[in-house]
Amino acid sequence: MAIPTKYDIEFSCGHKETKDLSKTAPGKRKARSFGLGKNFVCSRCFKKQGHDALEKQNQQQLVDAGAFESEYQLPAIQGTQKQINWATRVRYEVLAEIVDSDESESDQRTAVHVIDVAKAIPKAGWWLDNCTDKSLTVDDLIELITTAVEDDAGRDEVQLENPF
Ligand SMILES: [Zn+2]
Repeated sequence: MAIPTKYDIEFSCGHKETKDLSKTAPGKRKARSFGLGKNFVCSRCFKKQGHDALEKQNQQQLVDAGAFESEYQLPAIQGTQKQINWATRVRYEVLAEIVDSDESESDQRTAVHVIDVAKAIPKAGWWLDNCTDKSLTVDDLIELITTAVEDDAGRDEVQLENPF
């Protein structure tokens, strides 16, 4: 009889899952299967834990974003519900970073200007298209926001007010 490589492991969440332990030395597989079961939850529960933690973090960010919006009198983000939740967090993260980075008086003036311009960019799509790249620096973000309105967003706003 060959030494088994697959073990039915009962995890600490109470769920059973079959794991391939062929990479573990044959003499250590039994101990490893006990250790895994005792110390970990099954892969589905693991994913759910990660998902729940992320959901909680996202919810907290939405609460923070709401407080930031009222403090700076930012308009509500416009878009589909999914876009709104995401873009509201993105806009908050970006603007809070810019506000937090103001060390000198001229930085503070810049931050105030950026917030003002941002008020004219309520579209979720703009924030998601432009500001989700993690490699963007604060200066990049300031440039993106302050140059957004003269182009697309500005033209769209004018069109909304005066379609003819
Ligand atoms: Zn489980």
